[in-house]
Amino acid sequence: MPPELLGKVHFSVKTVFGPVPSRRLGRSLGIDVIPAKTCTYDCVYCESGPTTHLTIRRHSFIDPGRVMHDLESYFHDYPQGADVLTFSSAGEPTLYEPLGQLLGDIKRRFPQLPLVVLTNGSLLWDPRVRQDLSAADRVVPSLDAATLDVFQRINRPHPTLDLPRILEGLQAFRKEYSKQFYLEIMLVAGINDHAEELLEIRRAVDRLRPDRIELNTVVRPPAYGYARGLSGKAMEEVLRFFPAETSGVIGCFEGAAPVMDSQDLPSRVLELVRRRPCTLPEMAASLGVPLESLGDTLFHLLQKNHLIRYRFNDLDYYRPGSAGK
Ligand code: SF4
Repeated sequence: MPPELLGKVHFSVKTVFGPVPSRRLGRSLGIDVIPAKTCTYDCVYCESGPTTHLTIRRHSFIDPGRVMHDLESYFHDYPQGADVLTFSSAGEPTLYEPLGQLLGDIKRRFPQLPLVVLTNGSLLWDPRVRQDLSAADRVVPSLDAATLDVFQRINRPHPTLDLPRILEGLQAFRKEYSKQFYLEIMLVAGINDHAEELLEIRRAVDRLRPDRIELNTVVRPPAYGYARGLSGKAMEEVLRFFPAETSGVIGCFEGAAPVMDSQDLPSRVLELVRRRPCTLPEMAASLGVPLESLGDTLFHLLQKNHLIRYRFNDLDYYRPGSAGK
């Protein structure tokens, strides 16, 4: 599908979503400028499902003015409605071509809110991408592998992407970028949790010297069913491979979301689960409504096949049904 068409299909939905119950950022208002599952990777653990458009070509999927309009509209309704603004999507945010312009516009308009970009880091070898990210207050690239075999198995990258080049890009960005540089490492059982790989990742970490290293694992339904998370004990073992003073396992979300109108609850529920599957408590926290008030809404959405409920890791998750996509 041509990128122009992808943009039109996707952006019938809003570019601003949440605030989502982020396990690391508190009330994180998401900004999404990428058509769903347009990515440079097709990670086994992706909580948004398999990648449908694997690409490294940057594109202007949407007018930056549209994003500014959605932000203005959100903060008009909920002036205290977020702790942080986060570029995060069911795709790779650095594929958005006017990213630098948009980050600059947002920073000028909302200077009090930290601006974070979560990226898989695969395009940082491109100086234009590094320059674009310079307006963010914090950049959180991923690094799940440091050897070719594990890189292929866990991230399933676009065929033209090359791990040594990606590592060089990360280093170049680290040198140029003076604000907060975090690194996220996603651990998948049986793929990148063995000592040899962890030692290689540690070597890369020593070269990069991130301000913070966040270890994460599969806790939500993954794109590929064989991707399994590590136990809490196993995560503690992995933690020992990384510098004690700057590394941690990402904890559970505890922030309170703003109380929101319940009038447009069905559409808000769908906006949320389109980005990632949610449990009922996550949904309530994110939407700022009591748990019990979601009962009727979910019942009707399930009945009309707008939503599907399914089990993963002994929890009930909701994702869009065929009528809710
Ligand atoms: S986890 Fe991120 S980088 Fe990996 S496929 Fe999903 S959106 Fe892309």
